[in-house]
This record gives sequence, C-alpha cells and structure tokens, in this order.
Amino acid sequence: MKAIYPGSFDPLTLGHMDIIKRASKFADELLIGVLNNSSKSNPMFTPMERVELIREALVDLPNVSVKSFDGLLVDFVKQEGASIVIRGLRAFTDFEYELTMSQTNNKLYPDMDTVFFTTNIEYSYLSSTTVREVAWNGGDITGFVPENIAKAVYEKVKK
Ligand code: ADP
Repeated sequence: MKAIYPGSFDPLTLGHMDIIKRASKFADELLIGVLNNSSKSNPMFTPMERVELIREALVDLPNVSVKSFDGLLVDFVKQEGASIVIRGLRAFTDFEYELTMSQTNNKLYPDMDTVFFTTNIEYSYLSSTTVREVAWNGGDITGFVPENIAKAVYEKVKK
C-alpha cells in the first residue's frame, strides 16, 4: 500500500519526523509530498531546498521518498498511484480544517482515504511557523528540528 504525506514542511520539524517514522511502518511505501504553494508568502526554503533537506533527514528510512508537487493533492495522489493520504492531528483546532479537507478530497477522488495520526504529546506544541519565528528572533531551535535542518535554518537566518 502506497501512502502520501503532504505538507508545506517549511521546515520539517521533529513532529513531522515522528509522523513519518510511524507512517513508514504502516505503509509499504511512503511518499512525502512537498507542496509548492506559491500563495504562501515568505517561505523560508524553496520547495527544492525542502525536498533536499527532507531527503537528508530521512536517509535511514528505505521505504520513504520525497517529491514536490503543485496543484490538487488528489491529482498528485492519482499520478503516483497511491490510495492513502496521511495527515497529523495536533490539537482540536486542526480537526475542523482536516475534516473538511479529507471530505472534499474524498468527494473529488472516492478511491482515496485520509488516515490521521495523532501527535506524540512531546511534539504537540510544535509547528513550522513557531520554528521560523524562534529562529528569526535568534532562539535555539535544536530541540525542534533534525540536526541538518537546524543548520540550514541558521544559515538562512544569517543571510
Ligand atoms: P500544511 O501547511 O499542509 O498544514 P505542515 O507542513 O504545517 O503543512 O503540516 C503537514 C502535516 O503535518 C499536517 O497534517 C499537520 O497537521 C502535521 N503536523 C504539523 N506539525 C506537527 C506536529 N508537531 N506533530 C504532528 N503532526 C504535525
């Protein structure tokens, strides 16, 4: 069974990593889909940079691969021959958005289902937005993201 875990991942956090590790045991093949979302203003990393950084962070997971995509998630899912979409649920506030997204996607492509992984309590506060804000303000992000990503974030902030 092939699953896709889509998101912005700007940048990938330890919360995302936790979902990826767990989902990689659930699916035979897991594809991380990095959304090329031109409507989101001021991204920290380009989609290609994110793909490279995520690949580096995931070298130890042989059944996981990474690609960027734009347009509709259902089109990407069809094109990749996947049947399951993975999403993480952090808090109650994620629920409404995720529910409507999954129902819309199911309407657009009934052969696809969304599977939710609830966040490990250790990472439930963590978001890419928080990581970017802490980093831009000179804070320590080493407990929030994989090592290679912390390095890349610090380099971006220095520039
Ligand atoms: P998007 O912009 O599509 O929400 P994100 O990169 O913010 O993309 O998140 C991608 C997915 O990862 C979403 O399903 C989100 O709920 C989940 N996620 C984000 N942060 C965490 C976290 N700390 N723990 C678990 N899941 C998370």
